[in-house]
Amino acid sequence: MQPDQDKAGSKLGEALDKIERVRVHRRQKFNLRDTHITLSHGSGGKATHNLIEGIFAPAFSNPLLDRMDDSAVFAVEPGASHMAFTTDTYVVSPLFFPGGDIGELAVNGTVNDLAMAGAKPLYLSAGFILEEGLAIEDLRRIVTSMAGAAARAGVSIITGDTKVVQRGKADKVFINTAGVGMVQAAWPMGQAQARPGDKVLINGPVGDHGIAILLAREALEIESTIGSDTAPLYELVARLLVAAGPALHCLKDPTRGGVATTLNEIAMTSEVSIALDQNSIPVRPEVRGACEILGLDPLTIANEGKLLAIVAPEKAEAALQALKSHPLGREAAIIGEVRAEPVAMVFLRTDIGGTRVLDMLVGDPLPRIC
Ligand code: MG
Repeated sequence: MQPDQDKAGSKLGEALDKIERVRVHRRQKFNLRDTHITLSHGSGGKATHNLIEGIFAPAFSNPLLDRMDDSAVFAVEPGASHMAFTTDTYVVSPLFFPGGDIGELAVNGTVNDLAMAGAKPLYLSAGFILEEGLAIEDLRRIVTSMAGAAARAGVSIITGDTKVVQRGKADKVFINTAGVGMVQAAWPMGQAQARPGDKVLINGPVGDHGIAILLAREALEIESTIGSDTAPLYELVARLLVAAGPALHCLKDPTRGGVATTLNEIAMTSEVSIALDQNSIPVRPEVRGACEILGLDPLTIANEGKLLAIVAPEKAEAALQALKSHPLGREAAIIGEVRAEPVAMVFLRTDIGGTRVLDMLVGDPLPRIC
């Protein structure tokens, strides 16, 4: 073996060892003790991870799945360009809410999971589960909204499916979309790639989507103009790829479970610690107010138009300016940094000067958020 191949071989061996270590760690940390499914298994937080590690991950285990990124990334044949492939199902209630609807969410959510792999989204599928009695006018409105969102995201919906179930066997409409995209980054990116010293960036205020849904659903006496932040994020990603290049180590959208859950996943998979600075995390005053009244933490609330970028320190400022140069990143901020230890933990330096552990979302304050 040539020395170069030797080096490449040991690097690959190291990477595989790390994947195996993280897999063992996940199996230990997430333990399915429940005997039946509860709503919290759909929260995106700890219970969802228990379910995934207890049922799906061991059954389907393979090197592409085991990375547990937002999209799977693979080459169709050796040496070919890398594709990203992802799927997501949408069960949000209500179907129409301030700032969006289930159709827009079903397009943006899936194109964003592709974008988080550094991939330009290309094609989507759309599968519909319709409940007997759904108004055709509502379906038309949802589908029109999907078509608009697809046009804005630059993707085509090229295949689909429709099923109908009896009244009461589903809630109006559920949508599944899958998507494929072409990876634009020529370097490894993903939640295993965060390194000590990296900066953590976000493109704007957190918690808008979850709070908009909550306020639309419950008859709460809270006056609000908060709308969902649902938006396609690939244009932002394209600017980050140019501005930071290989210094862009990881992208992840803090959807269900919010920023807290997403950063815990990154800290665990990269075997690092993440320290956040509460003062620097943008939160709209209205979202903060609603969270205080309802006893919720904006850092565990779902977002649908936000991304977290983990960037090497020398390119952090360039990445920040790239985000700010786009309308979806005007309020971007550097909110924390990656540290070596303690591994797999996230900390929050609070605005009164203390430090606390920031865990994943436990339980589910807001079922059927997306
Ligand atoms: Mg995601």
